[in-house]
Amino acid sequence: MPTEIQHFIGGRRVPGASGRSAPVFNPATGQQSGSVALASADDVRAAVAAAREAFPGWAGTTPLRRARILNRFLRILEERTDELAAAITAEHGKVLSDARGEVQRGMEVVEFATAAPQLLKGEITENVGTRVDSHSLRQPLGIVAGITPFNFPAMVPMWMFPVALACGNCFILKPSERDPSASLLLAEWLKEAGLPDGVFNVVHGDKQAVDALLFDPDIAAISFVGSTPIARYIYETAARTGKRCQALGGAKNHMIVMPDADLDQAVDALMGAAYGSAGERCMAISVAVPVGEKTAEALLARLEPRVRALAIGPGTDPEAEMGPLVTRQHLDKVRGYIDSGVAEGAKLVVDGRDFRRQGYEDGYFIGGTLFDHVTTDMKIYREEIFGPVLSIARAPDYETAAGWINRHEFANGTAIFTRDGDAAREFASQIQVGMIGINVPIPVPMAFHSFGGWKSSLFGDHHMHGPEGVRFYTRMKTITTRWPTGIRAGAEFVMPTMK
Ligand code: NAD
Repeated sequence: MPTEIQHFIGGRRVPGASGRSAPVFNPATGQQSGSVALASADDVRAAVAAAREAFPGWAGTTPLRRARILNRFLRILEERTDELAAAITAEHGKVLSDARGEVQRGMEVVEFATAAPQLLKGEITENVGTRVDSHSLRQPLGIVAGITPFNFPAMVPMWMFPVALACGNCFILKPSERDPSASLLLAEWLKEAGLPDGVFNVVHGDKQAVDALLFDPDIAAISFVGSTPIARYIYETAARTGKRCQALGGAKNHMIVMPDADLDQAVDALMGAAYGSAGERCMAISVAVPVGEKTAEALLARLEPRVRALAIGPGTDPEAEMGPLVTRQHLDKVRGYIDSGVAEGAKLVVDGRDFRRQGYEDGYFIGGTLFDHVTTDMKIYREEIFGPVLSIARAPDYETAAGWINRHEFANGTAIFTRDGDAAREFASQIQVGMIGINVPIPVPMAFHSFGGWKSSLFGDHHMHGPEGVRFYTRMKTITTRWPTGIRAGAEFVMPTMK
């Protein structure tokens, strides 16, 4: 019997009233493991009502008390990392070690948010005028919502809610309907840590739930992470409905390999960055750009046997380096991209389409795939594949390679492998991308910095977590104060100036 996956509203699991649900699968076996409730507008309204009731109390709780609850939550996460990782692997498919890594990166944001009293400190100026003082403070927005993708069912929600809660907001999470269970563990553990009911709610669902959140007048801000077309829709709709919005979209990340790079290091980096998590990462490297024919040939010679030797299996197999894709539809889509690469004339060096794992014939497995001689007009170069498919696009020189990156629609992350400090500095300074790695293939900023791309990889002004997260989830108030001895007699009709 598939498990029923319910919403979490007002501190408890509730089935919802929509009567709609969607199947959840174990990607390694292809078997249905759960059935997730899909929220109607009324279900969303119930979550908003719970959050509205909780908000005054939570906003009025001192930042230090809020931080202590997050500290307790952090300890629970530390103790139960394996439980959360197992829930991720069961519905997403990624290998357990990778799922543990995801939990760790999420915990770091919780750790950052436990500094709430420090993060929320304002500024003060004594005597902005004679005996007049001014101070600024950051206050919560109210009820905020997070809409998250399938590929990091614990980490991406944790990019958002620890900071939002630390700042005194109530939060409604709409996780991916493809791997919804991790979010319920997070909700229950927050409650166990002492979070008051209604401060954190989970509504599962599809477009109906998302639209109900977007159009709800009580929701002040939307954080979104997912594909670019949906990110654009969320951002445009939020702008029309007057909500603050940060909407992170898709990616196509290049890694330039310069002729002076340590090729063994570059190949190790490419293997992890292209094939880790079966390429279902927004910071995955999907295009390797060797500079010069000699570099290209040497890189290919090292890469090909490594891609053929990838250990692929269910996420629970400790030997597996890469698990299955998330759904049958996604598997078909990735296969379709490989077909299109062949049809457009790229050289298919390693073909993952026929990969089978004994005992897991119904799982959504695909082998590591490597294309060479990919050109910038091909669909496999232009579009995000989100699978274990690495393209080699050979560049004659650095300027050509950098030009390709700068002209691409996506600008989430990029990397350069080189020993030349000048080349690296030029790259970091001039490349038009949000997150840059110098000899670092997946430059995901730590929790106390902020995460976000440029161009079609992020719509909105603020990156996620770190200082940008605090700015996003608060609004500033500036107070100017004068006490009776500083007040001169008589009305003044001119613009106040410093006296
Ligand atoms: P998705 O866009 O299909 O789904 C994201 C969220 O939007 C889910 O909660 C989903 O239920 C909801 N949604 C789906 N269709 C919708 C619609 N028509 N209207 C309103 N809401 C809708 O993305 P996904 O497949 O879950 O995740 C993969 C994508 O996310 C990739 O493009 C990846 O690059 C991107 N991603 C980006 C980042 C980043 O930081 N930029 C991080 C992780 C993932």
